[in-house]
Amino acid sequence: MQNESEQIPVVELDSIAPAEVAELDLYQKREKIYTRQIEGFFQRIRMFTGWPLLAGYFLLPWFSWGDRQAVLFDLPARQFHILGLTFWPQDLILLAWILVIAAFCLFFFTTLFGRVWCGYSCPQTVWTSIFMWIEQKTEGSRNQRIKLDASPWTASKAIRKSLKHALWLAVGFYTGFTFVGYFIPVKELGFQFFSLDWHPWAIFWVAFFTLATYINAGWMREQVCMYMCPYARFQAAMFDHNTLIVSYDPTRGEQRGSRKRTIDPATKGLGDCIDCQLCVQVCPTGIDIRDGLQYECIGCALCIDACNSIMKKMDYAPNLISYTTENKLQGKPEKIIRPKVIAYGIAISIFVALFLYVLLSRVPLELDVIRDRGQLYVEKPNNMIENTYTVKILNMDTREQAYVLAVSGLDGLTINNNKVISLHPGEIAELPLRLNVPRSRLLAANNVIIFKVKSTSTPPLVAEHESRFLGPGPVK
Ligand code: SF4
Ligand code: SF4
Repeated sequence: MQNESEQIPVVELDSIAPAEVAELDLYQKREKIYTRQIEGFFQRIRMFTGWPLLAGYFLLPWFSWGDRQAVLFDLPARQFHILGLTFWPQDLILLAWILVIAAFCLFFFTTLFGRVWCGYSCPQTVWTSIFMWIEQKTEGSRNQRIKLDASPWTASKAIRKSLKHALWLAVGFYTGFTFVGYFIPVKELGFQFFSLDWHPWAIFWVAFFTLATYINAGWMREQVCMYMCPYARFQAAMFDHNTLIVSYDPTRGEQRGSRKRTIDPATKGLGDCIDCQLCVQVCPTGIDIRDGLQYECIGCALCIDACNSIMKKMDYAPNLISYTTENKLQGKPEKIIRPKVIAYGIAISIFVALFLYVLLSRVPLELDVIRDRGQLYVEKPNNMIENTYTVKILNMDTREQAYVLAVSGLDGLTINNNKVISLHPGEIAELPLRLNVPRSRLLAANNVIIFKVKSTSTPPLVAEHESRFLGPGPVK
């Protein structure tokens, strides 16, 4: 039994002073990160991965394919044009395949190379880099920016800050404008913009994406990666001891400490880390990689470039911070080909093969047959049995097509309406149809029949649909 002195005292909430309540606050104010610009091998690689993506994003809507925009997601017409192909809502299965393949590629590359996507290609990283570059051009280097923020407001400070935000908004606007240009023909959108004749929805979406870009890349930056991105949370599940990570080598770096370049660190009991903090100052998420692997690390390798520049100055071997694996750090053998990687590789190969099969066997023609559910059949006076249907033919091809409808499955079957149907690209024909069969030709009360629509083009487009023909049954 607890004696009285060991009992936890019960504190009345009313008795807590406001200052103590404030200490219980779970909100931690964000420390602004002032990153230092750094040049280096991995920074150059980032240029080669980031710029083509940016150029692709900004330029693609301006290209034409035939008489229309090369990539256009035309939502009102429910058509998605990608280069020479037109996809319809009926093709959503292809989108599902693409998403599945993209997800498995992400698993595959994350297992092998860690957070390469985050560090080199994620739009949040790429756009944040652009915004940081603008910041450096308008407000100066890291130290100049720290000084500027701490200084009182002057005309020069106001001009620099205004210029930075104006440029951020300009990039945000062009990003939003381009994004909407994938859904509304971008030349039409540009014409609306210059003639000040904007559609309200176009204004809304461009403004929305302008602000989203401005806030995410200008203000929130690493907060998006740390608190909002789900991938940052679950990617650890794909990591193993052979996954590439950015890591500091403590056995080589410690005991860290400053020293003169000419001094042999061993004589002072020092490792190779001169504790210059450059790796921390370049880090876009503001972490110290020397504290070990942290979930905030996006694997951008800026700290590797920073540390290698110091190692070069000190005449030490490079890669005190490097891309490595946990196994390598622990002196264990590394393994690139492992069961998880093989499994992801096989899954990707299967899904890509299935996707290609679905894509290549896809016929840009849709046939739908709905049997009239109001009546089973009609017995006509001449001993004929009649069933009625509604047939829908959708021309998903990019060319105008002429179609002929035929029905098979029962002898003596006649169609009341089988003229040639001409359809423009994207046009749907809805035909009421009556089929007649002599009662003597019925095989059963419920007969399988096949509707077949075929274009007159070469090679022809063909679609089939199975349906039922009902009647009183065969003559006994
Ligand atoms: S620790 Fe290094 S690799 Fe990780 S985010 Fe910071 S700079 Fe990039
Ligand atoms: S940049 Fe290299 S030397 Fe400088 S503190 Fe970081 S790890 Fe140490």
